[in-house]
Amino acid sequence: MPVSQINQPGTLFVVAAPSGAGKSTLVNALLTNDPNIMLSVSYTTREPRTGETNGESYHFTTVSDFLERQSRGEFIESAEVHGNYYGTSKAWIHNALESGKDVLLEIDWQGAQQVRHFFPQMTGIFILPPSLTALRERLYKRGTDSEEVITRRLLAAGNEMAHAPNFEYVIINENLDSALADLTHVVKAARLRFAQQFSRRPSLFYDLGIHAQ
Ligand code: GDP
Ligand code: ADP
Ligand code: 5GP
Repeated sequence: MPVSQINQPGTLFVVAAPSGAGKSTLVNALLTNDPNIMLSVSYTTREPRTGETNGESYHFTTVSDFLERQSRGEFIESAEVHGNYYGTSKAWIHNALESGKDVLLEIDWQGAQQVRHFFPQMTGIFILPPSLTALRERLYKRGTDSEEVITRRLLAAGNEMAHAPNFEYVIINENLDSALADLTHVVKAARLRFAQQFSRRPSLFYDLGIHAQ
């Protein structure tokens, strides 16, 4: 493991999925069970859905404010998804990882690619639906989006899923409980990687005479 990759004690997770695959459901359940993971709250120009709170689900903002932040270099990644802008705060992620927190980003494949550029050691997790029929049914059943928005998201699903091969792990969200168990195991495995263990407990490794190469 090159020393350049052993810099932050926190583990970085990036979760992507086509809209409706159950990404938010799984991530919210994971965070409820594991308070040591912090969820990055993205900036977006999308309208809030019923039940979404500013600063909790997203930082909801205007296109002009978003573009100003982008030009000031505030985002580690940003992308246009389904006709809205989304971006992730650079400062927040750096601070969280440096202070030893594990961080999870729920972002699209374009954002994941940009984040990997800065953090090659990130753990990419892609959530797939069990079928296209199930994906469509979940989007309708969720009841948060108009017919037009759902159609747009279903049309974009194939393009999003085409990028699944670039992620280290794939979870098929058929049964929610087993998908959550899968996600929990992936998180555990990522935390046990040499680089993460070394960064978290450097003095133990030095005491045992183990050095990074
Ligand atoms: P969902 O697909 O039903 O979860 O709907 P959202 O409107 O919450 O998200 C729309 C898309 O934007 C999804 O592909 C997200 O992964 C993506 N997204 C959300 N936040 C970010 C972000 O900060 N950066 C990037 N690049 N994509 C994001
Ligand atoms: P995403 O964040 O990927 O867009 P959501 O988490 O909002 O997806 O899930 C979409 C809908 O599907 C929600 O109504 C959710 O309750 C439902 N859902 C999620 N996982 C499952 C599952 N395993 N079986 C059935 N319905 C599910
Ligand atoms: P929604 O609008 O349904 O909340 O999200 C739609 C898509 O945008 C999802 O695939 C979600 O992962 C993605 N998304 C949300 N926040 C961000 C972000 O900050 N950056 C990127 N690149 N994508 C995001």
